[in-house]
Amino acid sequence: MKLYGGIEAGGTKFICVIGHGPDHIVAEARIATTTPAETIGYTIEFFQRHAQEYPISAVGIGSFGPVDLDRSSPTYGYITTTPKPGWAQANLCGAIQQALHVPVAFDTDVNAAAFGEHYWVPENRALDPLLYLTIGTGIGLGVIVNGKPLHGLLHPEAGHMLLPHDRTLDPFVGSCPFHGDCWEGLASGPALEKRWQQRGETLPPDHAAWQLEAHYVALAVVNLIYCFSPQRVVLGGGVMQQPGIIDRVRGAVQRTINNYLQTDRITRDIQQLIAPPGLGNRSGVLGAIALAATVARMNHAPE
Ligand code: ADP
Ligand code: ZN
Repeated sequence: MKLYGGIEAGGTKFICVIGHGPDHIVAEARIATTTPAETIGYTIEFFQRHAQEYPISAVGIGSFGPVDLDRSSPTYGYITTTPKPGWAQANLCGAIQQALHVPVAFDTDVNAAAFGEHYWVPENRALDPLLYLTIGTGIGLGVIVNGKPLHGLLHPEAGHMLLPHDRTLDPFVGSCPFHGDCWEGLASGPALEKRWQQRGETLPPDHAAWQLEAHYVALAVVNLIYCFSPQRVVLGGGVMQQPGIIDRVRGAVQRTINNYLQTDRITRDIQQLIAPPGLGNRSGVLGAIALAATVARMNHAPE
């Protein structure tokens, strides 16, 4: 059984695994995200320590970003303009590749998560496009189209989309350092906390926060449905752990579309369209394994 390395490179921690798939993980480590030298150093050490017992055929990385995914660019595989101290222009992919000498697949954390959901969750295999949204410390979108993660000009940055913001109903100015009241500025975990002066975890289920949160998430999801015509929208991230929030989003999506799109997956079976992650909170790291399996196959394919 072939083994692959998977790295979910997050702004607070790196999760590293060695395995073959969701039910076959043989080693795992969590490494705090400090400086690039230290964090990437420990990451490399993890794989080297296990190399004898668990040799890997390829590594997949799903990284926080923005990242450079353009293979013809001199900064391919770099984290680019992040405000996270020390990490702007960090050559994550190159450092891993040079140390481990195996093919490396590199993508955004959310594209990796989307790929994981598509690749490992049997019912999602036939659902394309598939969108994966994380609503947590930030808001991010991963997109699978024709079975592959979407890159394009850079990569999707749907967390910064602009939404109608009625300041008489919601005077909060937003928390995005670049745009103020973009979607992430209005509806990320830190935005919730700033608006209500309390973390999402501690806000009671009947608090007005949840209706407003579902409203913003639904507006954005409706925009994404109009743009991508997805067959599945997976809603992940910490804020979506809030009990009942997904059902509120589903209802608000239906009301916003207002019967304009006549398909059972919207009008009747919307739980089929908008769903929690099939892999729980493991979509990212298991997606990284799936990216590794794919790049390993490509490297062995006849020309
Ligand atoms: P990250 O985005 O950093 O990977 P998470 O997806 O866990 O991490 O998101 C963290 C955010 O989610 C925090 O802002 C936290 O307050 C919020 N959060 C976590 N659990 C809940 C919950 N049950 N309800 C609402 N918000 C939550
Ligand atoms: Zn923004």
